[in-house]
Amino acid sequence: MRPGEAFAAVRADGLTKRYGNVVAVNGIEFSIAARECFGFLGVNGAGKSTTIKMVYCRTSRSGGRLDVLGLDTAAAAPQIKQRIGVVTQENALDPELTVLENLLLYASFFGIPAPTARTKAASLLGLLGLEGKEPARLAELSGGMKRRLVIARALVNDPELLVLDEPTTGLDPQGRLLVWEKLLQLRDRGITLLLTSHYMEEAARLCDRLAIMHEGRIYAEDSPAALIDRFAAKDVLEIIGADFILPDIVPVRALMRRRETHGDTVYLYNADNIALLTVLAQAGVEPARHVARPASLEDVFLNITGRELAD
Ligand code: ADP
Repeated sequence: MRPGEAFAAVRADGLTKRYGNVVAVNGIEFSIAARECFGFLGVNGAGKSTTIKMVYCRTSRSGGRLDVLGLDTAAAAPQIKQRIGVVTQENALDPELTVLENLLLYASFFGIPAPTARTKAASLLGLLGLEGKEPARLAELSGGMKRRLVIARALVNDPELLVLDEPTTGLDPQGRLLVWEKLLQLRDRGITLLLTSHYMEEAARLCDRLAIMHEGRIYAEDSPAALIDRFAAKDVLEIIGADFILPDIVPVRALMRRRETHGDTVYLYNADNIALLTVLAQAGVEPARHVARPASLEDVFLNITGRELAD
């Protein structure tokens, strides 16, 4: 059985979405296990939002299969919507209402009685670090607080699956860290999380498994560590100057995993930067301008798609 196969919260097969001549999602297959945090990582236009819009039944598919919580999205959208939570890129909070009123209004859409909704709102605001903010107007909240309020709102119906589109885009670093902390708490509570991101660090910190998405397709899917191991290596030595010649000697070969050239930079993916620099120095090669760093998902993305994630 493949990872994500058992008790799939979401299962897609040949999933396709066309907008006229544009194929936004091109026959993708993925499976998300209950209680896991799964992410789609890719640059703008990769098809991430379109994919999750089909998952939360906002848009219909053009082809393939898509089951959410065991139900076909084409046949059971209302039932699925009752059981999931959604955090879109637009906060869509009512600026005229207070924090509490926003939550109560949303709870009423699910038919949750007002007394229950009030208790739930208090506990969700506590969970998202917004205790005491009930009477606040939206204008009084920071961007990070609004995001956490939208997450609280999405949890009002006790969803089994929480879908988040770019959860921290537009937030300052501090606001982003707080949202990450809250999402990790939710994951620990056993809520299945599905998110999209174009932030490498976000994907690496939050996701158990990632799908690297590019031009409507999934190019690779695995845990962040396994992706780095497969498409990069432990370390990278970046050498400025595309004409750099790597000595073809046994100690270098023993450390090297792969070599890539992008622009005027040579990327030496290797098992240990310090050991490689030592061996190069012993061979009389001292790269003038270089950066030694651990490999990351950024390298995975670059090696798979030929493009940089941080554009
Ligand atoms: P991402 O979320 O990765 O940035 P999207 O899913 O938003 O990517 O977009 C994938 C492709 O589909 C892009 O080429 C985008 O322009 C196109 N697209 C998305 N939504 C629509 C729409 N409503 N109508 C037409 N084209 C769309």
